[in-house]
Amino acid sequence: MKNSNSSKSSELFEVAKTLMPGGVSSPVRAIKPYPFYTAHAGGSYLTTVDGVSLLDCCMAYGPLLLGHAAPQVRLAIEAQLDYGWLYGTPSPLEPKFAKMITGDHPGMDMVRFVSSGSEATMAAIRLARGFSGKQDIVKIEGGFHGAHDAVLVKAGSGATTMGVPDSAGVLSDLVKHTRQVPYNDPEALESLLSAHTDVAAFIIEPVLGNIGPVLPDNNYLRDIREITRAHDVLLIFDEVITGYRLGIGGAQVMYGVRPDLTTLGKIIGGGLPIGAFGGRREIMQLIAPQGPVYQAGTFSGNPLSLSAGIATLTYLHDNQMLYEELDAKTRALEESLNLNGGSFVRLGSMFKYFFRSTPPKNYREVKECNTDAFGRFWKRMLSAGIFLPPSQFETNFISTAHSDQDLNTLSQAYTQCL
Ligand SMILES: *Cc1c(COP(=O)(O)O)cnc(C)c1O
Repeated sequence: MKNSNSSKSSELFEVAKTLMPGGVSSPVRAIKPYPFYTAHAGGSYLTTVDGVSLLDCCMAYGPLLLGHAAPQVRLAIEAQLDYGWLYGTPSPLEPKFAKMITGDHPGMDMVRFVSSGSEATMAAIRLARGFSGKQDIVKIEGGFHGAHDAVLVKAGSGATTMGVPDSAGVLSDLVKHTRQVPYNDPEALESLLSAHTDVAAFIIEPVLGNIGPVLPDNNYLRDIREITRAHDVLLIFDEVITGYRLGIGGAQVMYGVRPDLTTLGKIIGGGLPIGAFGGRREIMQLIAPQGPVYQAGTFSGNPLSLSAGIATLTYLHDNQMLYEELDAKTRALEESLNLNGGSFVRLGSMFKYFFRSTPPKNYREVKECNTDAFGRFWKRMLSAGIFLPPSQFETNFISTAHSDQDLNTLSQAYTQCL
């Protein structure tokens, strides 16, 4: 980027650093030596405060399937503003949105709205424990489920990049109830569940989105469904990324596997803060006030997020061809690339170039990637006007706003920078 010594971004960061830990509101944004600051965004582009226009393949880490400032979402938000943006009472938007979401997900008879994906997984885990009366949970090594204590064990996302798999301040007494198995290894899950009978739930991103994408082997998701059922362990699909990203109904529809509980976030808020969890009726009925598992939130189901979400889901239902079009775009990108010894993994609008000769199957293999090479490549891409998520361990996303021209630009930049 231009003017790296005296840019507005670096000036802003100097101030931010003194007032905010690391100068940022979320760790993955702490790009070295300083992050660029965004002035505005539209479609597939971000524009920095220094006037540099960047083709965005980070897309806020997943929520913006329809692009930045999508007009149909904006219209819904603007319309809602006239009616107020927070009531503290139920609004008609809730049953409407709940009907859309449960209708789209075979694994969701009922749903509770919350304000982030982290909140959704936190509540889903509590609910699984409350339902089963059992204490332990199992997660995938490198699986990311947000930033709360029970799941901050070798998490993917920022935690991996920073080399601090566990967070300070998390009680070992709590985390000892979180067990881990490698992805794509049904035998590991089977032997763990045979050895330990106190497992309430197995939580998994059906497609690993925070160290990948890392894709499930044939039958892996079916196998874990059978194994968890046989051991009377609830299966939680964390579809915060995959929900409406892979298609309507997310991974559970794409792979034909019905989880007991599902967590959603990101895309369902159309770019505004949101989360949701839901599942089988007999389990969801345990949530307060219907049942004894407590869960609450001031901003839960707020009308602004719900309006944006309803507009997004309505658009997706009316334009289902877009999923095939997005898939065709990343396929064309893949076909245009000379891999230069790396590997390319894609699924619909998710993709990643790994600095590793074969596509990784699990966390251990992802960790084998050459992160120094990734760092150099990432900087070159930024100089070429492309913003990729600043980590070998984050998925790249495209949106419906990414044109064929954008994909050509992207392909040329990959070819140059690799
Ligand atoms: C982003 C993410 C979360 C956390 O969602 P937030 O809204 O950031 O709290 C949880 N699970 C997965 C799979 C995610 O990608």
